[in-house]
Amino acid sequence: MNITDIPVEGYERVARCHDKATGLHALIAVHDTTLGPALGGMRLWNYKSEEAALFDVTRLARGMTYKSAVADTGLGGGKCVILGDPDKVKSPELFEAMGRFVEDFGGSYITAEDMNIKIVDLLHVRKSTDHVAGLGREHGGSGNPSPYTAYGCVVGIETAAAYRYGSKDLSGKHILLQGVGAVGSEMARLLKERGARITICDIKEDRVAELCKEHGYESVDESKHLSVDCDIYAPCARGAGVNDETIPQLTCDIIAGCANNILLEPRHGDVLRSKNILYAPDYVVNAAGIINVSVERHPGGYDEEIAMEKINRIDDNLTEVFKLADEQEIATNIAAKRLALKRIEAAKQPS
Ligand code: NAD
Repeated sequence: MNITDIPVEGYERVARCHDKATGLHALIAVHDTTLGPALGGMRLWNYKSEEAALFDVTRLARGMTYKSAVADTGLGGGKCVILGDPDKVKSPELFEAMGRFVEDFGGSYITAEDMNIKIVDLLHVRKSTDHVAGLGREHGGSGNPSPYTAYGCVVGIETAAAYRYGSKDLSGKHILLQGVGAVGSEMARLLKERGARITICDIKEDRVAELCKEHGYESVDESKHLSVDCDIYAPCARGAGVNDETIPQLTCDIIAGCANNILLEPRHGDVLRSKNILYAPDYVVNAAGIINVSVERHPGGYDEEIAMEKINRIDDNLTEVFKLADEQEIATNIAAKRLALKRIEAAKQPS
């Protein structure tokens, strides 16, 4: 196995691993461990080049630093990517080799699930390293993060409603959800429970029909969903949906959803601000998954009560972001980053 470091400015350590025996080609990026070991998922993707993979892993690792700093998880930011076709490269041996690569970071990087990686793959990784998080409850882990992420997003939506409308009460508010997968469908259920009027869309039409029948939601064709006149828009599918093309079509007061990287570019936060649309930054709102996993590091092991108490603090974190944005007259996405950097800098000061 050949591990080589790649110097990247602003990152504590970035390394590449080539393992001839198993065909493993992977990168790990540790962005910042000021607040704790860098936790971030393992992604398997057929990147066009190592350069593309390096761009992705470094961007995602930095994002994890900010997300964990704002969520106060006691963790830093890192990520890893395996280059290859998800349908072809997987083998127990490859994941064991990946575990040895993770182990080379001596605990400064902790891995978990991400795109195209399943718990069964992580169990192979764990044969060669202890630095694996997010396994099932039967393996001493915190289990499936999606229901926690959904609950945390609903906390975030209530916080945004309180900031915008003066009350957390969502009854009668019209909420449009784009994407009703693992997280979006649970959010819809929780929001309906709180009395909101729910409209959903998804590229999976059968899923939409099934959920509408079961819960009495309204639906809209995905291609026309932005024409829905709603109070709150919750993007819960993929990123980059808020951009120059879509912003002029938005009629909502608030954007708050679980999707990562909702804004195509940071400057779109300013555009939303100029249109008086309150944007709840994605990584502040969707942090409950990482918060839940972080509780595995609690001295007594994972404890759901502690996790829920920490997840409820999304309310305080998001309120702090909104206040900072107002005080400094900046977009909320910029305010979230400033809050993260402030917390990291504060931790660097001698106490
Ligand atoms: P998922 O794959 O279960 O659901 C995504 C849903 O979006 C699917 O039903 C899919 O058909 C639908 N979809 C895809 N493209 C669409 C489009 N253009 N229009 C409408 N629907 C579309 O994923 P998930 O776990 O529910 O995650 C949703 C988002 O939240 C992702 O961006 C993910 O990165 C983010 N997120 C998830 C978690 C978690 O705990 N699962 C945590 C943080 C962030």
